[in-house]
Amino acid sequence: MHLYGTQAIDEQGHLTIGGTDAVELAKEYGTPLFVYDIQLFRERAKAFQKTFEDEGLGYQVAYASKAFSSIAIYQVAAEENLSLDVVSGGELYTAIQAGFPTEKIHFHGNNKSEAELRMAFEEKIGCIVVDNFYEIDLLKKLSEELEQPMNILLRVTPGVEAHTHDYITTGQEDSKFGFDLKNGQADKAFKQTYGHSFLKLMGLHCHIGSQIFDTTGFQLAAEKLVGKMSNWEKDYGYRCPVLNLGGGFGIRYTEEDQPLEPAIYVRDMIRTVKKVSAAADFQLPEIWIEPGRSLVGDAGTTLYTVGSMKEVPGLRKYAAVDGGMSDNIRPALYGAKYTSLLANKANAKASEQYTIAGKLCESGDKLIEEAHLPTLEAGDILSVFCTGAYGYSMASNYNRIGRPAVVFVENGEHQLVVRRETNEDLITHDMSYQQKVKGK
Ligand SMILES: *Cc1c(COP(=O)(O)O)cnc(C)c1O
Repeated sequence: MHLYGTQAIDEQGHLTIGGTDAVELAKEYGTPLFVYDIQLFRERAKAFQKTFEDEGLGYQVAYASKAFSSIAIYQVAAEENLSLDVVSGGELYTAIQAGFPTEKIHFHGNNKSEAELRMAFEEKIGCIVVDNFYEIDLLKKLSEELEQPMNILLRVTPGVEAHTHDYITTGQEDSKFGFDLKNGQADKAFKQTYGHSFLKLMGLHCHIGSQIFDTTGFQLAAEKLVGKMSNWEKDYGYRCPVLNLGGGFGIRYTEEDQPLEPAIYVRDMIRTVKKVSAAADFQLPEIWIEPGRSLVGDAGTTLYTVGSMKEVPGLRKYAAVDGGMSDNIRPALYGAKYTSLLANKANAKASEQYTIAGKLCESGDKLIEEAHLPTLEAGDILSVFCTGAYGYSMASNYNRIGRPAVVFVENGEHQLVVRRETNEDLITHDMSYQQKVKGK
């Protein structure tokens, strides 16, 4: 059994997280419940930052907050001196409500609306990561109208695509994101933006994939982007001071996943940039990274209550929990795998194999295909590990199930940071049908 961060098993055989008893948390706040180990989040953030400090480099570590967006996590991110990536007006609004320093917010997205971009100017955010020519035109128009400066990065598709267990390099990448580096789009975007009176071109950005387990892809991307920036300096006399290599650092969901230490990804990345920059006689740029999953993924655990059970003789045993694809769509969407532990009998022998099903009306609503657990009884508290990224943030109200509560735990204390949705919450946007008056 692999435990994460501050997780432990106490003398009662209960799972504890952040020094708090998971079974007690389930009792107090109800289930399903997302529990975040805030100490682990802080440790992950510091590990990335320390590597940059050790290598003596200018940097920003931006939390890619689409992985888990809430006021409270933004406040912890601010405490840890992280920057913040947002991808919508809604995430930006949440960050502002959290009091996040706007000069450290970076705005991403392949179809930002004019209203969203106006909000970015109004809030004087740190940087907009520009995705396409339509956006360049919009930004020029807005910055000139408002007579207001804005830092920008150009997002490019470097022709390096990383996958979980391997990577491929493609000539021309088929992606909805960014300017193609190879076919001249990136050069055209450069020419349209550098030296603009309000838009300040800071450099290039790429994001080569997610749940990546080696450093080769990042190194290839770094080579290409530094090469491009150094060519521009030679050709146009304009130096881009920032290189943003995105996120995608892998985490351990199950024993099949063998991620590197965060420090290793960053160290190899930095060394490549140093080498390539020196060879091209290009002044070392600042490096920015954007971890999402690797900051919050294994810090999150979901607690469920076990309910009904069904045996298909000779085939399998189903155990259903009180949540499912409405709070974690990843298994149904990508076949994502998770591990679990019976939180109220964490030391009991795993003598049985169950398929953990959700309670939503879809046959594919299964959280874990093969879970090795002790004999389950209704009322048991099942913990599913590593649900901190793309769980709550992708949650839905399918079947009109309210989204779970979220609790932060640290140093033996727990606090509610997102309230559970009630039935009343579910109808707050509904309006009654107005019956037509007869005879009119
Ligand atoms: C999603 C995303 C990230 C974060 O990816 P993780 O796999 O969660 O680390 C970073 N940058 C960009 C541009 C993204 O779209």
